[in-house]
Order: sequence, then structure tokens, then C-alpha cells
Amino acid sequence: TQRVVIIGAGIVGTNLADELVSRGWTDITVVEQGPLYMPGGSTSHAPGLVFQTTPSKTMTNFARYTIEKLLSIEKDGQNCFNQVGGLEVATTPARLEDLKRKHGYTSSWGIEARLVSAEECLKLYPHLNKDVVLGGLHIPSDGLALAARATQLLIERTREAGVKYLESTPVTGIERANGRVTGVTIPNGSIAADIVISCAGFWGVELGAMVGLSIPLLPLAHQYAKTTPVPSLVGRNLNEQINGKNAELPILRHQDQDLYYREHGDQYGIGYYGHRPMPVKASSLGLTSKNIDEKNMPSRLEFTAEDFDPAWKETQRLLPMLRDTEIADGFNGIFSFTPDGGPIVGQAPNLDGFWVAEAVWVTHSAGVARAVAEVLTTGRSQIDITECELSRFEEVQLSQSYIEETSSQNFVEIYDILHPSQPKESPRQLRTSPFYAREKELGAYFLELGGWERPFWYESNKELLNYLPPKWKPVERDAWSAQFYSPIVAAEAWKTRNAVAMFDMTSFHRFEVSGPGALDLLQRLSTADVNTKPGTITYALLLNDHGGIRSDIFISRLEENLFQIGANTATDLAYLSREARHQSQKGNFVQVREITGSTCCIGLWGPRARDVINDITTDDFSNKGLPYFGVKQATINGIPVTAFRKSYVGELGWEIQTTAEYGQRLWDIIFQAGKIHGLIAAGRGAFNALRLEKGYRTYGTDMNTEHNPYEAGVAGAVRASKWEDYVGKAALERIPSKQKPARRLRCLTVNDGRSMVLGKEPVFYNGKAVGYVTSAAFGFTVRKPIAYAWLPGTLDEGASVEIEYFGRRIKATVVSEPLYDPDNKRLLA
Ligand code: FAD
Repeated sequence: TQRVVIIGAGIVGTNLADELVSRGWTDITVVEQGPLYMPGGSTSHAPGLVFQTTPSKTMTNFARYTIEKLLSIEKDGQNCFNQVGGLEVATTPARLEDLKRKHGYTSSWGIEARLVSAEECLKLYPHLNKDVVLGGLHIPSDGLALAARATQLLIERTREAGVKYLESTPVTGIERANGRVTGVTIPNGSIAADIVISCAGFWGVELGAMVGLSIPLLPLAHQYAKTTPVPSLVGRNLNEQINGKNAELPILRHQDQDLYYREHGDQYGIGYYGHRPMPVKASSLGLTSKNIDEKNMPSRLEFTAEDFDPAWKETQRLLPMLRDTEIADGFNGIFSFTPDGGPIVGQAPNLDGFWVAEAVWVTHSAGVARAVAEVLTTGRSQIDITECELSRFEEVQLSQSYIEETSSQNFVEIYDILHPSQPKESPRQLRTSPFYAREKELGAYFLELGGWERPFWYESNKELLNYLPPKWKPVERDAWSAQFYSPIVAAEAWKTRNAVAMFDMTSFHRFEVSGPGALDLLQRLSTADVNTKPGTITYALLLNDHGGIRSDIFISRLEENLFQIGANTATDLAYLSREARHQSQKGNFVQVREITGSTCCIGLWGPRARDVINDITTDDFSNKGLPYFGVKQATINGIPVTAFRKSYVGELGWEIQTTAEYGQRLWDIIFQAGKIHGLIAAGRGAFNALRLEKGYRTYGTDMNTEHNPYEAGVAGAVRASKWEDYVGKAALERIPSKQKPARRLRCLTVNDGRSMVLGKEPVFYNGKAVGYVTSAAFGFTVRKPIAYAWLPGTLDEGASVEIEYFGRRIKATVVSEPLYDPDNKRLLA
């Protein structure tokens, strides 16, 4: 068993100790800077509201497990969760609509919930002002976590199981040797460890700094206040007054005004997110580990009453009975916000054995702890944690200014109604491709990802709408799905399918894997046989030990010992780099280098792509000169390029890559030469639609570590005859190949040919929610909206299903895929 040190005895650290010890790990020490009875972190004052439902399946599943666990932690006949239910109310028509969308998530992720009328809201919550509330969403399984009590009981039970606790003991350093942690430094010595997990909450930044690791979280103060006793509630007899179970009404959320509520016996607790962001530097708080009590702890700052004024006014409007009360006690409590709102979980890319589990709410605490424990003990978490990965951030997203600005913005927007495509307004233009100036000239509409500006369509193509054949005319969209969309996308799709278009592919991750051990590394990590002739591209999966998909990649063998990888995320880079480091340490040298920003890439695709290329190169771009899935060096009007014969949109063409300094010239040459062949620049709007028609999956959206290649429909990337061992091979071999998977990623088309969905909507079969949509787009070539969805394996082609979209049921049909060019005639043209 490994020697483990957990830093922090908040709700996350104690849960993690519990999850590890229950999996048989025995050598665990929890080090806490505060006193154990009240460590003084965020957990010590958390009011504990648990609203489970979010757009994220992962986070919702974490919350569900947290509730399950809190219900199971018992002492003196009482557990640690008060399942009073949750009620979210709408006071604006927009919110009322949004609650319908949220209800969709509850069905997608399997949480029971009901949209309720204003009258029902009042029945559930009699204190509401009936003149204000328009309706609500009721989730019976939500409720109140007794976080402080749970922490104490977890300490008690893990101690009995052998976990050691050191209190009033700050960790002041992380000890390392040869790229691995070896222990932690504490005031009177050190503790040796093979694995150190920082569960330091908003102190995470300080712990990260000890190992040169930027932890992208921002501690922010958030206001919480308690009223004086409500006269009409004084003396009421709550069944369970002991141990904090002093509430019986549902927890209440009034997101239109950034407010939430719970009962505390005869008092009310009010949480407020409507105030200005109040960032805090954890290191400035000092260690007040002596004299910690309920009112005096590092995570609790002085109440700023003036910031709370609007909340108090609004509260008296929503809950008129509180007009008879005053604020008895308020504070500005600190907890973590992150650039994308997600928690930060995983192993440090730069240091083996150093893990973090931070920026985690009480709501998700046990779920996150279980995931980390599973990864440590078995190599994977049953709930996918891709979107929580510490390594998901791009370098530019780890700068202090980026973290501060985006995390503060997340605080501001925490209860806002956000469209899934809505981009950050700031910071922008952090990363632009060499084509950026030209794209702007063409009126590109940009959305942002990973700091990159990515064109979604070009206003310069607007006039094409006048020439669109009737069959290609875009259908009217509802107001929600029409956001961040333009009908121009239809024209760009039409041009790609019928002439030729150029797409900026620069923002896709590109890595170089080189050295004498390069082949061995890729053979060991990927499902494909990449011992191919130089000049060959291979589509492959990276799996975990359990056969779950951790990424899908393109591996191009450029030379004997030089490969280029087309990958998905920064997490892929962290994984490949770590594995390369380990292999090199064993003497089989291999290097992984990110080349995304130093290179750029144009996808030149469409039936006339060859006409364009032949006008600007003397190299052979025929099927013989560069067959499908081939790659070669070439020259385009004097510019050295690497040409990859592949296409995400399912048309003849190449990804043409060069180094950054030639980018703009390459763009100009192709654009000019293409004009007479009808070439346009096209954006990601068309790209997404075309790729779905072709059935190409997007990692993270359509599939993740919870899925195996057979279920996800990417078994073609698994080379059955590969004799070399690779990660996940044994697990795949245990999956009976003839058996129908219990669930499958399926292609649906919408029957009415016009109703759009956007992703994450629930799918119903015979009236029962059986799955959810992953990606969706209007398929311009097939003239129908397309949705990919996870569905039971028993649903075959032809099955009729319904997709719920803002409370409306849209009829759809399971169809065979890909919808477009199943024989690859276009690709092979
Ligand atoms: P913490 O509880 O902060 O624990 C981290 C521990 O690490 C601390 O005890 C600290 O002393 C220790 N530590 C730090 N550095 C060191 C070091 N160098 N050496 C040793 N020990 C160290 N969440 C919800 O889900 N629902 C809510 O309703 C809710 N309401 C909230 C209301 C307020 C006012 C606030 C402030 C937060 C609220 N939260 C809520 C958020 C929630 O409280 C936190 O996200 C959660 O408690 C974090 O738990 P943790 O274990 O990660 O961190």
C-alpha cells in the first residue's frame, strides 16, 4: 500500500481519507493547519445547500453520490443529510423557460424533478410572495448537507480504521526527488509519502506554488447572513432540532436575483451572489488556528452590510414574513471559483504523485473524493472526470490575470441563464491564428475556446444566401437555438459539399512525438498499430486500463522516429508527456513537444479541392501521389507545408500545415487560387454540421472515459490483430464482442425536419427517459436536424423516440449512420 498524505481536513480531505481507507489503503495521514474540531476552512461555515442538477452529467452524478453518502453517515440514529428537497423559483418569463431546460437535465441525468406552477410553489413554500413567483422546479431529493458534522464523523470513523490526523499542523513544503513527491514538510520535521493530495480548498494556490504549479482558482468572498428569529416561527416544534436538522421547508433558490435560502430553526439563512466580486489572497489570511470558533476563522471575513442591501430588499419582497426580522449575523465567507466553474482534480503534470482536489463544493465533495480514490486505487473513476482535470487548462489560462478575471466573471454569472455557446466577452484575442487578419477582413464571427479565436461563419458569405438552391435554404430556428448561429452557415455547408471551402484548423492540438522510443510509446498507449510506413496517418484511441476512452487521436508517421499527433486537449499533452518521461527514464528515449501555436493549418475540402491545389503546387496530389490517410511534405508556391489527406467534413481534401511565419501567405495563395473554383472561407458552424453528417465523434462531448469503443461506435480504431500490448487491451478483450452493448451512441434525425436541439436534452422512449443527446446540428445535406445520443443498446434503427426541448417533445428516429457518404466515395475521390 502507498503512503498517502492528505492536506486539509475539510469535507473533501476527510471524504478522501474515507474513500481510500474503505478501499483497503492503510497508510494515510491527514495534515490540517487548524484544529480538527473546527478546521476553519470553507466547510466550517458552509450552510450546506445541495442542489444536484447542473448542465454537467459528471457534476450531477457527483452530487447524487454525495447525498447517498451523507445519508449513510450515521451516528446516534441520525445521518448527515436533511432531505428537504429543493425548489428553484422563476420570477421572470426567461427564467421560467430556463427551468424547463433545467428540467430536461434532470431527466437526462436521472434525477427526479417536477416543473410546478406558481400555486404549487406556494403549497411547497407557503412563505413565498404569490405576486412575485411565476413557477418553479421542485427536486425532492435535494436538501441540506450537514457538512461540519459529516466531517467530524468521517474523522471519527477513519481514525478507527487507522487514518492518522495531525491538527494545528501547517504543511509548509512539498518534498520531491527525481520528479516525484517524497513527502511533506511540517514545522517539526517531515512526513514521507508516495502520494500527496492537496485538499486545501482555497489555499490550493499556496500549496501549488510550493511545487511551481499554477492552480487556477480564485478565493472569493460570498455573503451569507442569518435573520433574527421570525416571530411566526418562534417556538415551532421541528422534529429534528438536534445536530442541525433544523429545517423542514425545501432549500430555495431565487436565481433571478442571485439569492438562495434555507431555514435555521426559527431563523432564516440568506446567501447572495449579486454583490461585486471580492477576491482574497489566501496567504494574506494568516493562520488563526488558535482561537477558532464559529465566528472567528480564516475563511470568514467581516460582513459588508452595504453590499447586502439589495439582497435584503429583494428578500423582503420574495418572503414577506421576513419583513418582521433583521439581519442578526452576516459574514463574507471565502471559497474557490475557477475560470470555467469546474473543480480542479488530478495529478500535477510536472510532479508525479502530487494530486489536487480543490475548488470542490460540499455538494460534490464525496463524489469527487470517490473519483480520486478510484483513480488512485484502480486507475480510473467510474464517473468521467475529464472536465474536472487539473491539466485541462491551456498555458495561457494559467496566468494570474486570466484566472482572476475569468473566475470573478464566473462569480458574477453563477446564477445567470447562459447559452451553451455563449463565449467569454473578456479576455479575448489571447490566441489568434496567422489567418486572423484575413478572417476579420472577411467578417468572421468568432467564438472562443482555450483562448483561441475561432471563426464560426463569415459575413462575407452572406450574399451566397441569394443563390442557395431551395433545398439548401436554412429553416427558421426558435429564438434559443438561433443564438450564436447565422443562416450563412447553410451557405458555407452548401459550398463545401458542392465546390470547395477552406477552414482554419489552427486551434486543434498538434504534438510532435520524436526520438528512438517514439514508436514504442505510441504502440503502448494507442489502440492502433502505428508501425506503419512513414507517410501514413492512423486514427487511434487512447484508453485507460479499463477500456474507457481517454481520447481519440490521429497519429501521422512523418519519419521513422517522428510522429505528429492530432489530439483533443491539454490533458492529452499532459498524459503523453508524463508517459514519455517515464519511458525515457527507463532508457527508451522519447520526447513530446506541443507545436500547436508554432504551426497553423488550413483544411481545404470539397469536390473541387484538387483543382485548387493543382494550381498552386507541382507536387503530386493525386490519389496515387497522396492517398487517403497519407501525409507528405510538399511545397505550395514556395511555402513548405505538410499535407495530410484527411477530412473532418467528409470531402476530398487536405489539411495543409505550415509554420506560423508562412501562415498568412499560405492563406492568401489558397484563397486567390480558389476563387475561380468557387472557394470560400467557411467556419465552425458549417464544420460541426458537416462532421455530424459524417458521424465523426467529438471527444468529451460524444464520448469519454465512461465509454468503451464498441459502445461509442469507434471500434474501427481498435486494431484487433495488434499483438503488442497496449493500455486497455486486456480490458477490451474481456468485452464479449458478439454481445450487443447495453448502451450505444446512436444517430437520430428529427422527424419534422426543422426542430432544433443543442445537446444534453433527454431522450424518451415509450414515455420514459432512456438517454440523452450529446451533439446536435442541422444537417444541411440531409435536410434535417441531427442529434447523436446515448441510448439503450436495445433500441434499433427505426425506433421512434422523443427529445425534450424546453418542455416540448420533439419526435425523432434512430437511423443508421453515417448519414452522408457511407462508402467514403467523396473522401476517396
Ligand atoms: P475547506 O473546507 O476549506 O478545507 C481545506 C482545509 O485545508 C482547511 O481546513 C485548511 O485549514 C486546510 N489547509 C489549507 N492549507 C493547509 C496547509 N498548508 N497545511 C495544512 N492544512 C491546510 N457549498 C455547497 O455545496 N453548498 C452551499 O450551500 C455552500 N454554501 C457556501 C456558503 C458560503 C458562505 C461559503 C463560503 C461556501 C459555501 N459553499 C457551499 C462552498 C463550500 O463550503 C466549499 O466549496 C467546501 O466546503 C470546500 O471544502 P474543502 O474541503 O475543499 O475546503
